[in-house]
Amino acid sequence: MSRTSSFPWYYYIRSARSRIFFSITSIILTYLITEFYSHNAIPKIITLIVGVILSSFFVSYFRIIPLRKILDRMEKIQTKLPQDKKINIIYQRNEWDLLDEMLLLTEHYIGKQNEIVQTQTEQSNIILNSIPDAMVTIDNSRKIKRFNTVFKENFLVDDNKKKEIELSSVLNNESLISLFRKCLQKNKKIRTSGFFIETRNEFYDIAIAPTHNQQNEVNGALAIFHNVTEAQLSERMRVDFVANVSHEIRTPLTSIKGYAQLLQAHGDGIPKEFHPILDKIDINAERLKDLFDNLLKLSLIESRYALTLEDTDLSFMISQIESNLKAKHLKKKIKIKCDLENEFIKCDVKLMEQVLNNLIDNAIKYGPKDIKIKIKSKKQDNANLIIVTDNGPGISEKELNRIFERFYRVQGTSKKNIEGSGLGLSIVKHIINKHKGEISVNSTLDEGTEFIIKLPI
Ligand code: ADP
Repeated sequence: MSRTSSFPWYYYIRSARSRIFFSITSIILTYLITEFYSHNAIPKIITLIVGVILSSFFVSYFRIIPLRKILDRMEKIQTKLPQDKKINIIYQRNEWDLLDEMLLLTEHYIGKQNEIVQTQTEQSNIILNSIPDAMVTIDNSRKIKRFNTVFKENFLVDDNKKKEIELSSVLNNESLISLFRKCLQKNKKIRTSGFFIETRNEFYDIAIAPTHNQQNEVNGALAIFHNVTEAQLSERMRVDFVANVSHEIRTPLTSIKGYAQLLQAHGDGIPKEFHPILDKIDINAERLKDLFDNLLKLSLIESRYALTLEDTDLSFMISQIESNLKAKHLKKKIKIKCDLENEFIKCDVKLMEQVLNNLIDNAIKYGPKDIKIKIKSKKQDNANLIIVTDNGPGISEKELNRIFERFYRVQGTSKKNIEGSGLGLSIVKHIINKHKGEISVNSTLDEGTEFIIKLPI
């Protein structure tokens, strides 16, 4: 059924108004002329005709002003039209025909535009649905706007047919929702890895990025959920395996070491040529125990160890480490100088003790007989810095990038007969990472090495 167009009331009233004005003007004019030229008919008629013509021109001028504006605009649009359409319009003589042609063209372009938008939407849907990760977009009030099939299959389990779905009702995880809130409020991309979503019982790497309108204001966010459950589980199995093996091996090693020490203690009854063998058994059992101790520590830090942050007295901790290490390295003359601007820092006491112990132990192990170590702490840019400097042999630039790797030992170290497993610094790095901090190192060969720990406050 064709729809009848609405009656143009506005135009009708304007038209009637001008006609009324025109008629009144003509009546007044006729009256005045009758007054002036009451005896002479010819000038009376001429003046009347001139008056009517003038008032018609006057009224018509104001009537066509809106049309002029429209024609101006059309002229501008015309310059942007394709060549074939331009000619059609130029040859329109009548303004109303021109308007009609323009409207037809507009209709044609709107249709085309709609087709383009539809094709683009279909294409973006195909792209979205071919992404193997779950994807969702939300608006500023965290209502879901669009999602792909993976998101639908994994998170919209109830086949939610509601028009407006709250993200919080789907994810049901306050800390995850707070990441979305932070992204929207701070207009900042947010990434988190290995996030456990209870409702799915799965781990995800999640990337959330703000979306913007044409005025560049945040109007929502887009999130991608990459399922890493399998990787996380196999990593856990690896860590558990290392932890279990290390734990199981420590017990027989301790007894080997114990028996070796027992035999050493009763050395009188054992032939002299066996004494160095007993020493070797003792030393190597100790080395193996150290290695497995370090492996165990590393896997514990990597997996289950939850930080217990508390205000820690650095100077007390350093003095304890110093006395332990002095007892361990009896042949060395050790001097430790502290310059602690902020004596108390928030950290996990046990783990930070491990960090400082490993760094100071290395400085002593690899340093000269007369070793000087400086430990400095200060606040900088919302972070606590702890700097450990020594006057040891230094590390070449080539090796500096690798010293935090597991089992990496600087070339030539083992030839110097300095014991170690290459795990000390990777334990340090893991602990600092666990504190969401950073560790860096500067070193000059034959001058010394400086380790800088940066812990967020
Ligand atoms: P290791 O058990 O061999 O000491 P680490 O991970 O603690 O293992 O250290 C890795 C390597 O970095 C060491 O082999 C050593 O050569 C070098 N290194 C570490 N700290 C120092 C230091 N303070 N001075 C010189 N070299 C160092």
